[in-house]
Amino acid sequence: MEVFKEKDAIRTQVRDWQSVGQTVGVVPTMGALHQGHHSLVRCCVAATDHTVVTIFVNPKQFGPGEDLSSYPRTTEDDLKDCEELGADAVFLPDDSAMYADDHCTSVNVSGITDGLCGSFRPEFFDGIATVVTKLFNIIPADSAFFGRKDVQQLTMIRKMVSDLDMPVRIVGCPTVRESDGLACSSRNRYMNEEERKLAPRLYQALLAGKAAFEAGERDPAAVVVSASREMLRESGLKLQYMECVNSDTMQRALYPLKGDEVLAVAAHLGATRLIDNITLDEKAEQC
Ligand code: AMP
Repeated sequence: MEVFKEKDAIRTQVRDWQSVGQTVGVVPTMGALHQGHHSLVRCCVAATDHTVVTIFVNPKQFGPGEDLSSYPRTTEDDLKDCEELGADAVFLPDDSAMYADDHCTSVNVSGITDGLCGSFRPEFFDGIATVVTKLFNIIPADSAFFGRKDVQQLTMIRKMVSDLDMPVRIVGCPTVRESDGLACSSRNRYMNEEERKLAPRLYQALLAGKAAFEAGERDPAAVVVSASREMLRESGLKLQYMECVNSDTMQRALYPLKGDEVLAVAAHLGATRLIDNITLDEKAEQC
């Protein structure tokens, strides 16, 4: 496995592979790799001839007062993981390689990014759309792998790729969870022991919403009430949003629910912000 810091060098490597008919997949990450990231790398290794993992903590997607400076950085362990998982290359650029001092271009995908996390993190999705566009230009991969854990991000990237005719196939991979149901996240390590015990409530709440749908409830507001009620039983969790949304547009779901809608939640647990989501009828989930 080779580690690349320079844009031109990784681009040349990817083109060399493609010039002899081999396929390349990319897995964009911010590092601090966990089982969720590992599953993306495994999917990519299985589906393509060459896997490139990118590790870059993207300053453009953090707002003022967010955790950019304290975001976990575990590069040595991350490189070891990538090697063990069978990645062929890691792209590990410096901030200055990604953003020149006079960088002034950003990518905006409207609509999909208005609600859910977009309501609370105004810089977030433009920052992601911009960095992912740059990564796709630096690493002209055939396919790119993203987690359903960040479903609004995945939906936005699919739309951006379609709207801008980017020649890359987007693959969505299932959310990987700890044994108690908590979705794996780099930010889980911020929690203390007590918070960590409460955190699976988030997923239990989503399951309560899904159970209401399975029991025949077709009103999105009633599904949200069932799920929120489960969460409010625990005062330590501060709900930011719980919403049932259309899986293509991320706009409020309409009555009657069909099953392909997504129930999405964000909550604060002490200083940690957690997000999670579930498709009401898993058989309807897009990959
Ligand atoms: P991040 O490093 O948080 O920017 O995430 C990089 C990629 O890993 C994104 O596509 C995420 O959706 C994905 N990811 C993060 N957590 C999980 C998880 N628990 N299961 C599956 N994919 C995940």
